[in-house]
Amino acid sequence: MNGAGVYVHLPFCVTRCAYCDFAIHLTTDAAVQARYYDAVLREWALRDPGPGPIVSIYFGGGTPSLAPPAAIARIIAAVTERVAVAVDAEVTLEANPGTVSDATLDGYRRAGVNRLSIGVQAAESRILQAMNRPHDFSQAVAAVAGARAAGIDNVNLDAMYGYPGQTLTDVERTVQALVELEPEHLSLYQLQLEKGTVLRREVSRGRAVMPDEDLTADMAERAAQIAEAAGLHRYEVSNFARPGRASRHNRLYWNQAPYVGLGMGAHSFDGRRRAWNVRSLSGYLARLEAGQLPELGGEDLSRDELMSEFVWLGLRQVDGIAAADFRRRFGVTLESRFGAVMESLSRAGLIAAECGRLFLSARGFEVMNQILPEFLPDSAEALS
Ligand code: SF4
Repeated sequence: MNGAGVYVHLPFCVTRCAYCDFAIHLTTDAAVQARYYDAVLREWALRDPGPGPIVSIYFGGGTPSLAPPAAIARIIAAVTERVAVAVDAEVTLEANPGTVSDATLDGYRRAGVNRLSIGVQAAESRILQAMNRPHDFSQAVAAVAGARAAGIDNVNLDAMYGYPGQTLTDVERTVQALVELEPEHLSLYQLQLEKGTVLRREVSRGRAVMPDEDLTADMAERAAQIAEAAGLHRYEVSNFARPGRASRHNRLYWNQAPYVGLGMGAHSFDGRRRAWNVRSLSGYLARLEAGQLPELGGEDLSRDELMSEFVWLGLRQVDGIAAADFRRRFGVTLESRFGAVMESLSRAGLIAAECGRLFLSARGFEVMNQILPEFLPDSAEALS
């Protein structure tokens, strides 16, 4: 897929979920939020929009569904004023249950949003409360119905497994309840215990217990089976979609396409350089209001790093990577760079090559986290 993306980080939340380490700001103050949307527009005006075309605009958070539709419309209009946006571009807005109404959903669609990604996370109130999520499952059901009524025909639902206290039956019930809502896309994420979170503290103090590896693997397997049985096919380790509904936003990241990231904590990538913004609201506003880019840091990726990342991200997708894409991008063959790693993984039955594509076998997919580091520059060189 050719093209580029725009990511817009909208950081406001009502409460902080116990597992969350994202760059967020807790407020419902409309004046603070309005100042932030102005700053995002200033940042966009300062950024090089690149040649386009933009094939995905993604409002992530935070809780973007706290933003009024008029703010979303202004940002989309500003993007389309400076760079070509594909007529069929995917425009996604993340939403949390309980923060949308029929009127706001209608407003988002009129603003140009054509995909809604709803953070459901779990169907059981007990688990939602443990996560400190300020909603229940009935609000998720209402959000899906509202999206449909507003004419949004592309809906993703997010769920999480591997949470302390969650049983295999909880996960089965959640995923079953989600597929019954007939989404076009499902993201089923394993909980990551991030530093600095309330949950991590609870676990380290013994007040919460992580499910063991076997149980977590069973949860992943059952969740995938239920999704597949409902016609949602896995196309990446955590993502399932109906035919033609794989997320373009995700595909851009995994295929190393360029994107501009706007907002506090947002990352940008131009094909060689990755840069990231300040994470605090005060720092972000201060920079933009002084007419400066809010970048905190950046790194130029070496050719070896880009090659490793291309393979690493590509192999997370079920259909893997096209050898011709690699050659076109880097001017060398996959074999010339990773021949030794590929041979050893192929002998172990963990990767396969067919019809010009390299992909993980079913067994390789299960142990992906052990395999992918082999493609890092140091490991690949050690084996060649
Ligand atoms: S809603 Fe999302 S961004 Fe906000 S606190 Fe929860 S996980 Fe973090």
